[in-house]
Amino acid sequence: MRQAREKESRYCEVAVIGAGPSGCMASAAAAENGLRALLFDANDRIGRKIYATGGGRCNLTNLRMDKECYHTGGSEDLSAFFARFSVQDHIRFWESEGIWLHDRQGYVYPRTDQAATIAEGFEKILRRAQVEFLPGQRVSDLRLYSEEGKRRFLIQTESGGQYFARKVILAGGGAAGPQYGSVGDLYRIARALSHSVRKPLPALVPLLSDDRDLKAAAGVRCDAKVTLLREGAEPVSERGELQMTDKGISGIPVFQLSAAAARSLDEGKTVTAVIDFLPDFEEEKWSAEIARRTGEDKDCMLSVFFLGLVNRKVLDLILRKRGLQAEKKASKVPVEVLAGIMEDMRGFKVKVTGTGDFRQAQVTSGGIPLSEVDGDLQSVKCRGLYLAGEILDVDGICGGYNLQWAMTSGWIAGSSAAKERSGTK
Ligand SMILES: Cc1cc2nc3c(=O)[nH]c(=O)nc-3n(C[C@H](O)[C@H](O)[C@H](O)COP(=O)(O)OP(=O)(O)OC[C@H]3O[C@@H](n4cnc5c(N)ncnc54)[C@H](O)[C@@H]3O)c2cc1C
Repeated sequence: MRQAREKESRYCEVAVIGAGPSGCMASAAAAENGLRALLFDANDRIGRKIYATGGGRCNLTNLRMDKECYHTGGSEDLSAFFARFSVQDHIRFWESEGIWLHDRQGYVYPRTDQAATIAEGFEKILRRAQVEFLPGQRVSDLRLYSEEGKRRFLIQTESGGQYFARKVILAGGGAAGPQYGSVGDLYRIARALSHSVRKPLPALVPLLSDDRDLKAAAGVRCDAKVTLLREGAEPVSERGELQMTDKGISGIPVFQLSAAAARSLDEGKTVTAVIDFLPDFEEEKWSAEIARRTGEDKDCMLSVFFLGLVNRKVLDLILRKRGLQAEKKASKVPVEVLAGIMEDMRGFKVKVTGTGDFRQAQVTSGGIPLSEVDGDLQSVKCRGLYLAGEILDVDGICGGYNLQWAMTSGWIAGSSAAKERSGTK
């Protein structure tokens, strides 16, 4: 009898594994549609990663939405998902709770500019919806069993707990940011339930190079256009604030290109980043600038000759590549070389030899293919199982797109699970 009662308390209609944004949204949607939800997380509090987002300010979503903002393993169109829970639905969701948002050039943040507002907002919503949160419970196994002819899930935690559920929503994130709890362990669980996993790779991450000369420019931050050249693929470019590091390049334009770079590197292909340190100059203006400089008095050091074009450390780096020093007299350098140095400022090549690791990555490229879920995000391999968030093979560019995907997919998974109250057959 005691055992039966215990089992009852450990029984739920839907178990949500992972209390990140996708799991919180899924739990809220399921509970508000009347399902008793149990929410598991390896961390002691919900939304651990949310606190770290947007540099502590949480870039929740973005008013500019188009298909170029997301990558998937196939050519899947995400618009049907965003039609069910759009950016505007997301904004309404928070504002109807009195959590006001604001945008800076389309990038949407909580009005408080504090990521904690969103994590605490979820705590409040989940408490009201009577979602039962199980802190510090890492799920280690998930199995199907049969009860009175109906398929049910048995959930086991690392600490030895056993729970029973009619439906399960896997929302444990990918492999990025393991310091926040998402260590990629749910891929194994998904595989055991017949899913495949496209190789997870770090994305929104710095690019590394074995070029030791880059140290000369470490610490520089500047506006630049970065073009990624990958063997067998079209070049892709991004412009924004570039950061030079002693190990490679970083900053928003690099982050935006990092998923593509990671995939090509993983396939053994050559990857080069070409940096334009003067992206504002149109061709005509630039040719005139070269002609003017090379026609000028050269009785000065190279640092003076090239003054006003690029950061001094960048100039040092470019000169170093040509075996020159900034103190050398410009008159001692052939005019073609002076012009060549100026060309290097528009097309400085960095050989990309790797990416930062998952601890440095903001998101995972790869995961469970969208072809293995239906429009409700229910698994086509294992009915009653739903998937939401970063565990799926969807990664967005920087700018609030990953949280929007987490919220959209969480809402769809949670409300869809609630649609079929009768449970899995
Ligand atoms: C530093 C940083 C900054 C970011 N900034 C932004 C931003 O400003 N805007 C934006 O859109 N995106 C941002 N992202 C990305 C965004 O945070 C993620 O894409 C998003 O949180 C994914 O949500 P999720 O719910 O799928 O997974 P997660 O947020 O990773 O949550 C998964 C949860 O599941 C738990 N879990 C995992 N495995 C288990 C298990 N076996 N048992 C129990 N619990 C488990 C984890 O502890 C974790 O709490 C940032 C990411 C990082 C790392």
